[in-house]
Amino acid sequence: MTKKLFIKTWGCQMNVYDSARMVDVLAPLGYRPVDEPDGADMVILNTCHIREKAAEKVFSELGRLRQLKDRKAEAEDGRMILAVAGCVAQAEGEEIVARAPFVDMVFGPQTYHTLPEMVAKASRAAGSVLNTDFPAESKFDLLPEEAGSQGVAAFLAVQEGCDKFCTFCVVPYTRGAEFSRPAGQILAEAKRLVAGGTREITLLGQNVNAWHGDGPDGATWGLGRLIRALAEIDGLARIRYTTSHPRDMADDLIRAHAEVPQLMPYLHLPVQAGSDRILAAMNRKHSADDYRRLVDRLRDAKPDLAMSGDFIVGFPGETDADFAQTLKLVTEIGYAQAYSFKYSSRPGTPAAVEGAQLPDAVKEARLEALRQLLDAQQIAFNHGFVGRSVPVLFDRVGRRDGQLLGRSPWMQSVHAEADERLLGRIVEVRVDAARANSLAGTVVTGEYVTASSFQPAVTLEASA
Ligand code: SAM
Ligand code: SF4
Repeated sequence: MTKKLFIKTWGCQMNVYDSARMVDVLAPLGYRPVDEPDGADMVILNTCHIREKAAEKVFSELGRLRQLKDRKAEAEDGRMILAVAGCVAQAEGEEIVARAPFVDMVFGPQTYHTLPEMVAKASRAAGSVLNTDFPAESKFDLLPEEAGSQGVAAFLAVQEGCDKFCTFCVVPYTRGAEFSRPAGQILAEAKRLVAGGTREITLLGQNVNAWHGDGPDGATWGLGRLIRALAEIDGLARIRYTTSHPRDMADDLIRAHAEVPQLMPYLHLPVQAGSDRILAAMNRKHSADDYRRLVDRLRDAKPDLAMSGDFIVGFPGETDADFAQTLKLVTEIGYAQAYSFKYSSRPGTPAAVEGAQLPDAVKEARLEALRQLLDAQQIAFNHGFVGRSVPVLFDRVGRRDGQLLGRSPWMQSVHAEADERLLGRIVEVRVDAARANSLAGTVVTGEYVTASSFQPAVTLEASA
């Protein structure tokens, strides 16, 4: 009998990937995904612990879900199994069990391959099943193969966890130590994705460019070598990877940007701050100039490389002068797109107890100033494309009839009137208008353009 599964996912792309894999693990038990929790036989909240109020959001969502669970029981429509997964579950599992005993399963990001056993236990016994282990075995060895097509643009987790211990970050505690999947396993998964219709793969990892593993040739590969091997898969038109750490940007990976046409000219390379004092307090182990030099080398290798990043404002002890260094760095680099956050104190991290915590008003003002600058850069970057043609991989139907949505090589979201038969194809689109977050265009030829034959007609300069 088919059972309804609803998963709500917060946070990063790794969580999106994990949710898709939970669907695969639960498929043999008869669960099929649905779009709303009402009436579902299982609801999983796949949570993120990166920023403040993460746990409160989960508890308020659980309050709403409890009513749906009770309603289902009263209607004698079977039982709703309620689960909390992901990084909040890992960090605050015991508190969830204590405060919300109606939750049936609480499990961390490294244990969801054991969902069938957890479901069996939860179905038998009253009370919550708590599983926040960091098991010795890798879940990747035990997960089933993907159950179906993962779409035109798919994620593939290659690396997980982090050993960097930035002083603000919970990831090393919630996701555990750095782990790289073997190359053979990744290549096999990529081939299955492509056979199922995927044309673009984004390699995922908390520190994806720290990936290293034994290649099928017996040599130790880094991410650059892995990307070259993936580029040999027939039908895989585009490769991306995220998120990278500046210290793990190996020479071969930089060269891959120059040499592998399938590797898209867009790089998310967080720097967090522009002040060396703050970078040291964050334990980033690189200076602002190291980052500048790295971006120069990347742009020497790939002149049209679009940069993206993450920034934290209001880190403990950050002065106006420190913050000015962040604005200066952003102005010099020129970002096509970036994420900026107010520092939020995370329990258990060193920065939560060190240095002067700044008032929220100061953080708010700095965030606003930084966002204005980043938004202006993004708008200037997008406006530079108006009147030019870009190769777009259409990966979704749009909200309006007859509209398709896709991405440019530089990660811009592009929409155009287009025949649905162009889904999954790379099509040349002339850009008619640019908005802050997207481009609107017209299909030029409707012909298939291969990643290697298309020479972008744009030369990008750092937008200021
Ligand atoms: N591993 C990546 C890196 O090294 O940049 C990203 C990890 S984290 C999931 C994504 C982003 O969240 C970080 O780059 C950082 O900007 C932000 N972040 C993490 N902890 C934070 C905190 N305590 N307060 C504010 N932002 C935070
Ligand atoms: Fe967090 Fe730093 Fe690791 Fe990124 S590198 S996941 S910010 S500890």
